[in-house]
Amino acid sequence: MAGKLTFTMIKPDAFAEGNSGAILKIIEEAGFAVKAMKLTKLSPAKAGGFYAVHKERPFFNDLVNYMSSGPIVAIVLEKDNAVSDFRKLIGATNPAEAAEGTIRKLYAKSIEANAIHGSDSDENALIEASYFFSELERY
Ligand code: GDP
Repeated sequence: MAGKLTFTMIKPDAFAEGNSGAILKIIEEAGFAVKAMKLTKLSPAKAGGFYAVHKERPFFNDLVNYMSSGPIVAIVLEKDNAVSDFRKLIGATNPAEAAEGTIRKLYAKSIEANAIHGSDSDENALIEASYFFSELERY
């Protein structure tokens, strides 16, 4: 399935403001199929594990606190060229730099509370999907 899957989370700010449905509509209209989806809440330890690559960054503690502050929606998506097409759909990390019409431009509050996650490689998409879903749930 490499190349066809990506992983996303609707982050706590977007879920809390009731934007999950609108965001999912954009995702589905862009041609992504939902393969697995669950509402969950990350513990600080689970959020820290997900973002372990950033643990030396100055914003790591803030990021962990934010990501464990409320429910998130974890979703596995399928489409040709899924990772790069989805990164285009969500826009730049900093919403001030995100292109018009992107999910972050529409819904992100700040560089931290930026509404949505998108995997940055095929390899990480599978690692991240496995962090939330068993193989049985995904296929
Ligand atoms: P992404 O791949 O676009 O999500 O960006 P990164 O992998 O670089 O960063 C992961 C997440 O950390 C981002 O989505 C933001 O929620 C958060 N983040 C990134 N850069 C900053 C920053 O400079 N300050 C803060 N507070 N959070 C950041």
